[in-house]
Amino acid sequence: GTERALERGMAYYKPSRDSFSADRLTIVSELRQALIDNRLALYLQPKVSLATGAVVGLEALIRWPEKQSQIRPDEIVVLAEQTGLIKPLTRWVLEQALTMRSRLLEHGWPLDLSVNISPNNLREPDFPLHVQRLMSSFQQHRDSITFEVTETSMMQDPANSLTALKLLNDSGIPVSIDDFGSGYSSLSYIKQLPASEIKIDRSLISDLVTRAEDRVIVQTTIDMCHSLGYKVVAEGVEDETTAGLLRGMGCDMIQGFLLTPPLPFDDMLDWLSHSDSQQQKLG
Ligand code: C2E
Ligand code: MG
Ligand code: MG
Ligand code: MG
Repeated sequence: GTERALERGMAYYKPSRDSFSADRLTIVSELRQALIDNRLALYLQPKVSLATGAVVGLEALIRWPEKQSQIRPDEIVVLAEQTGLIKPLTRWVLEQALTMRSRLLEHGWPLDLSVNISPNNLREPDFPLHVQRLMSSFQQHRDSITFEVTETSMMQDPANSLTALKLLNDSGIPVSIDDFGSGYSSLSYIKQLPASEIKIDRSLISDLVTRAEDRVIVQTTIDMCHSLGYKVVAEGVEDETTAGLLRGMGCDMIQGFLLTPPLPFDDMLDWLSHSDSQQQKLG
């Protein structure tokens, strides 16, 4: 539908190389104000089991509706990271996610929610305490809000990331390694993380049908992750053939436009109530 077209057709804002350009200063102050005015949005995208077709969780992804045609979500995040706005942004995301999960429970959908966490957040000395407080006042969401951290981002500061993630895990936060296979982290490091899930990067999934090498890499990754006790999610699955291949490879879950692009909360509720009919797409 329209959402899908919007997601796909997003024009790309090219941040200026000059970090002090007038454009950039304007957009930073607009972002700060949007955060204050609650004009950002969190969209949701389902994660579906390949074995059963059941929806097992939802990933929350930031959107700036007014600027949808000018700035991509990952660019919002980079901008926030560069300007000290990532701390309030992530706190807003967490609050929204907790509220959304309460509303999902009210609607009879006890699904896990995943949020994306910046490496900068893991460096905030008070982040674990903040999360701990939040989780103790939302006990019903314990173990149900997963933090996704990218493989590459943790390598900037491996020891500190490990400590922070362990503290977070102790307060009931499962950890997922995002964009796996796009960086160069060592397995001996990944193995120490309190992670329960690995998400294979879209770059390894998108040409699975045509590239035999990618199939070898993905199959090996799935087997290795399973041997180490991780659940495996494939990101960016856009067609049935790819979903079929991944099922054959023993991949646990998929996410991607094949099912639906990320949707606003109410649209996701609608999608969920029709999700039985989506299962046929999994072949
Ligand atoms: P990510 O966490 O790896 O999220 C997956 C991205 O792939 C999302 O892009 C999603 O819309 C997109 N996607 C999902 N299925 C498909 C597909 O089948 N095909 C294609 N081509 N794309 C698909 P999005 O929403 O633009 O977010 C981009 C990145 O920005 C995220 O990558 C994440 O790293 C970051 N991000 C998004 N929201 C947040 C947030 O709230 N906080 C932080 N720290 N980072 C966020
Ligand atoms: Mg993610
Ligand atoms: Mg990812
Ligand atoms: Mg990504």
